[in-house]
Amino acid sequence: MIKGKTALVTGSTSGIGKAIAERLAQAGADIVLNGFGDADEIASLQKEMHSEHGVQVGYSGADLTKPDAIEGMFDYVKKEFGGVDILVNNAGTQFVSPLEDFPVAKWDLIMALNLSAAFHTTRLALGPMKEKGWGRIINTGSAHAKVASPFKAAYVAAKHGLAGLTKVTALEGAEHGVRCNLVCPGYVHTPLVDGQIDDTAKARGMTRDEVVKNVLLAAQPTKEFVTAEQIGGFVAFLCSPDADQINGADLSIDGGWVAQ
Ligand code: NAD
Repeated sequence: MIKGKTALVTGSTSGIGKAIAERLAQAGADIVLNGFGDADEIASLQKEMHSEHGVQVGYSGADLTKPDAIEGMFDYVKKEFGGVDILVNNAGTQFVSPLEDFPVAKWDLIMALNLSAAFHTTRLALGPMKEKGWGRIINTGSAHAKVASPFKAAYVAAKHGLAGLTKVTALEGAEHGVRCNLVCPGYVHTPLVDGQIDDTAKARGMTRDEVVKNVLLAAQPTKEFVTAEQIGGFVAFLCSPDADQINGADLSIDGGWVAQ
């Protein structure tokens, strides 16, 4: 079912997005990568995925905080790949600060990247998917799409918003072969989380080790990080026929975090 489809994975030059792209490529999808990073490293990632999995691998450096750039990315995918069959809205960023000091520019950035970008990609992808009678939209949520933690006002608000967008998309696509779900990871040790360890250490006056033990993994009953590869495998499953009746769901992959 995935073989021969085109998957656009936002924020796939690093971390979770990269692992999702890898897994979808392994399952036979052509891939369009997106995100920032060193041009040579991105070019070698494209080459590696192509030679390892025999799929086409494109790249768009669109800045997803800019609706015009998102439209440009869709024009590119239409022209080079014939359109998007699988859309993974994964790009996201974090900022940790007490609410009363939360920088307004950071709030605006997180809303634009973690929430509005998914609205723009979805509004551009959904019509053609409905016409084709098949489409998969997977949004990267977070345990923070279901519960809150202090000092993460923008992130928690944006991820809860993304949960709402997921449900609306699921309902509008339901009778047209389109499925939309939210994958909600707990902590995954990616560059995003590494930056957060520093920010939380500063905000709470702790060492990095104390943050990992007493803040991050304290919330995760398994006391283990989720791996990016496990999320990649989960997303590939959501694109498979076995997942055809999973729609509008917010699916935890968090070691039991939100069970508490
Ligand atoms: P990461 O920092 O490793 O990767 C983020 C990706 O987004 C990179 O490819 C980066 O280039 C891209 N990006 C950043 N700003 C962009 C912009 N303006 N336009 C286009 N691309 C941009 O982060 P990650 O940990 O892999 O997180 C990926 C997603 O997973 C995010 O939505 C995050 O909220 C979510 N998430 C992460 C964790 C975790 O523990 N790491 C847990 C739950 C949810």
